Amino acid sequence: MRRHGKLEYGCHATPQRTCVGCRVRTAKSELLRLARVEDQVVPDLRGRLPGRGASLHPSVSCLELAERRRAFPRAFRVPGPLDVSRVRAHLEGEPHVM
Ligand SMILES: [Zn+2]
Repeated sequence: MRRHGKLEYGCHATPQRTCVGCRVRTAKSELLRLARVEDQVVPDLRGRLPGRGASLHPSVSCLELAERRRAFPRAFRVPGPLDVSRVRAHLEGEPHVM
């Protein structure tokens, strides 16, 4: 019986996610979805990898922020450090084109 809930997504059709690096909420479509494969974080370019995902602005600075904050193990609920080299290669090799 919660007819007057706090969630009002109706007027905002765009789903939003929080960047794990800078913690800024951004439209999901502008963020890179990341997934975990074993102990590697990989860019989930097709959005099809199973399991928990994390969202990141497609920028190296946000990746570095996320690494410094140890945001990835937290986002993926794993105890150990994760290898983000594939995400870095993706960000460095393919500049984000709007
Ligand atoms: Zn960011």
